[in-house]
Amino acid sequence: MILDFANKWKPGDVLGVSFLNGSPKLHEKVAEVAKTWENYANIKFDFTGNSRNVIRIRFNAGKNDSKIGTDALTFPAEEETMCYAYIHENSSEPEIKRVVLHEFGHALGLIHEHFHPYSGINFDRENTIKHFMSASGFSEADVEKNVLRTYCINQLSSTEFDPNSIRFIQYE
Ligand SMILES: [Zn+2]
Repeated sequence: MILDFANKWKPGDVLGVSFLNGSPKLHEKVAEVAKTWENYANIKFDFTGNSRNVIRIRFNAGKNDSKIGTDALTFPAEEETMCYAYIHENSSEPEIKRVVLHEFGHALGLIHEHFHPYSGINFDRENTIKHFMSASGFSEADVEKNVLRTYCINQLSSTEFDPNSIRFIQYE
């Protein structure tokens, strides 16, 4: 697990979360899963509308995606900071859990395991770009940001590199 220091919230922060679309039943399911993180991070997600609204969720957005931690503060208030491609109120519980825990992990400032400076992964740059452009519809800049960029160990708070961590797959 890797946390990007640059985008870390303060301990005890309460992050307001709102929905730009989707049904109340889906909102309830997402909120319930997202709150799982409160057991592991000193952060609260507030879905009541009483806290500063920093995480804004859009469904049917064509991709699963989230801003990384405090990066969410740099986007206009009417813009979403978290997107879901296909979950809906009748999606299976494991499916909702899988994508919601993943994206809310990003909202806390967590990044994909392949960014670990000690991963030992040596991407074939040209083929990696080619692959993600065709498989995920990424632009070259997207591939740079989501796959190829490198971090120094002092930019991060992390456990040891975990090769069994969830793999980078399309739109995660
Ligand atoms: Zn992801």
